[in-house]
Amino acid sequence: MKKARPRRIGLFGGTFDPVHIGHLRSAVEMVEQFAFDELRLMPNARPPHRGTPQVSAAQRLAMVELAVAGVAPLVVDDRELKRDKPSYTIDTLESLRGELDERDQLFLLVGWDAFCGLPTWHRWEELLEHCHVVVLQRPDADSEPPEDLRDLLAARSVADPKAMTGPAGQITFVWQTPLAVSATQIRQLLSQGRSARFLVPDAVLNYIEAHALYQAPH
Ligand code: ATP
Repeated sequence: MKKARPRRIGLFGGTFDPVHIGHLRSAVEMVEQFAFDELRLMPNARPPHRGTPQVSAAQRLAMVELAVAGVAPLVVDDRELKRDKPSYTIDTLESLRGELDERDQLFLLVGWDAFCGLPTWHRWEELLEHCHVVVLQRPDADSEPPEDLRDLLAARSVADPKAMTGPAGQITFVWQTPLAVSATQIRQLLSQGRSARFLVPDAVLNYIEAHALYQAPH
């Protein structure tokens, strides 16, 4: 019997504290542009001393689950939260690869700033053995890559995202105009007792209200 065609899977990590419409619009546009069969939103574990103390990892995860419920092909991947400390991306990719068909195409989505820091990532030279890298660029951003990445880009970059082939190993750039919304802004609004309506999906807003998240300490 002929095997099914390889799947195209995107991986979009973030703190998602909370997930908001900027993340979700970006995700939907990536699905369209790359024809992903699945785009996994993957909340990152954080060091215990950082971030918003009153919002737990489980609550960040619950909000992402509510945000993507019924919005195929967006799904949640909770593997990094199952560990109690931040994961190296290489470990995450190895874990994920262990569950996929070897022909499945995996696309790691990273912002430009994160991409520029790639040479500092643990075992960074192995990352492209497991995935393609999609660099999200803002139209107005400075796009001169650091010296360390020049050779890699010369060898691996593909101008047309649709021309990416194989399970892993290539780099491409996409330009998106982000919506002017950030989790920081939402946390600030809520801590001032103001509304975050329409900046997050209604289901997420209801969850935030039901659990009194992001309120200023009394
Ligand atoms: P914070 O304000 O707490 O730093 P954030 O809103 O930037 O959070 P993150 O969870 O840190 O959200 O972001 C996860 C990913 O989503 C990152 O790659 C980030 O660049 C991207 N992202 C954040 N905000 C937007 C937005 N408005 N539009 C598109 N992408 C976004």
